[in-house]
Amino acid sequence: MSIPFIDLKTQYGLVEESVKTGIENVLQHGAYIMGPEIGELESRLSSYCAVRHAVGCASGTDALIMALMAFEVGPGDAVFTTPFTFMATAEAIALLGATPVFVDIDPHTFNIDPDDLRRKISDVKHSRKDLTPKGVIAVDLFGQPADYDRIEPLAHNNGLFLIVDAAQSFGATYKGKPVCSLGDVACTSFFPAKPLGCYGDGGMVFAHNDEMHKLLVSIRVHGMGEDKYENVRLGINGRLDSIQAAVLLAKFAIFPDEVAKRQAVADRYASLLADIKGLTTPTVAEGNTSVWAQYSVLAEDAAHRDQLMGQLKAADIPTAIYYPKPLHLQKAFADLKYETGDFPVCEEIGARIFSLPMHPYLSEKDQEAVAAAIRG
Ligand SMILES: *Cc1c(COP(=O)(O)O)cnc(C)c1O
Repeated sequence: MSIPFIDLKTQYGLVEESVKTGIENVLQHGAYIMGPEIGELESRLSSYCAVRHAVGCASGTDALIMALMAFEVGPGDAVFTTPFTFMATAEAIALLGATPVFVDIDPHTFNIDPDDLRRKISDVKHSRKDLTPKGVIAVDLFGQPADYDRIEPLAHNNGLFLIVDAAQSFGATYKGKPVCSLGDVACTSFFPAKPLGCYGDGGMVFAHNDEMHKLLVSIRVHGMGEDKYENVRLGINGRLDSIQAAVLLAKFAIFPDEVAKRQAVADRYASLLADIKGLTTPTVAEGNTSVWAQYSVLAEDAAHRDQLMGQLKAADIPTAIYYPKPLHLQKAFADLKYETGDFPVCEEIGARIFSLPMHPYLSEKDQEAVAAAIRG
């Protein structure tokens, strides 16, 4: 039997009863849209994240779009973010007519580099008369928090908002604080492969501020006012549906245990792979925790990566590259006029990185098989 990259089947075995009961409840009460499961999930997850408000929405992408809309981001605004992330992070900025301004990454955490962020904010202020610096979206790549103690003051001292893209890091902590309690607003995704996933699309926006909460609730349903046929601003159809919320309530019951199991799997990888020449295992910055959405390692270079991925494939072990092409080199962003060489750390890491099977139910035996295949 081959090793799955992510094992949602074993997980389903553990939650089957409660998922079925939850879905059956929705089918019986009939409130498919904005049923009682939405409020219940929002209240459970906001307390888990130690943040005042949570707004369930249709996807992680919609969570980002809703947050940017709440900050009235539009044409002429610059929003700083990393090019080493999933498309949605920068796409949300561009969809609203604003300009993503990319910032290089830290070579150890793969998250936005605060020193380069400082430079890029200054560049836009001093040499881009066409742009107004407006905000920062920091991404917690692979489940590890970005360097918020340095990013937050940089954002706020320059009058910029800070959005945390926690699509991969729900359940992680930064210096003891849940990541979704950081920034002005935090966004997460419940896409099935994320650490907390549903059985379709889903997402959530977290906010401390009552005013921000009201805005997000309005934007989620076409900019509604006091009732849904009064529209006081433009919004979207960004609702989470009741069935997905029921699935999430069932899965959330085992989530803290899964976070602990993911950490145990990551620790085991670290010791099994420690002495392999030319392979760099991931590190988490002191005082923080990752939820290990991916376990991503570095080969020496692209050729070495091809070789290692080939050895794993021959042993029937799946791997993946996140992300094969950084966003500044994607055709969709060609009009931003970035070139190869603009983000040297991101490009170098992108040529060396690949991800190993990672999920809470990965056995020691399977991890040993992964390590053996890498050794060759
Ligand atoms: C998955 C992901 C998103 C988008 O989430 P969806 O639910 O798929 O829309 C945004 N940002 C990052 C970093 C992601 O990994």
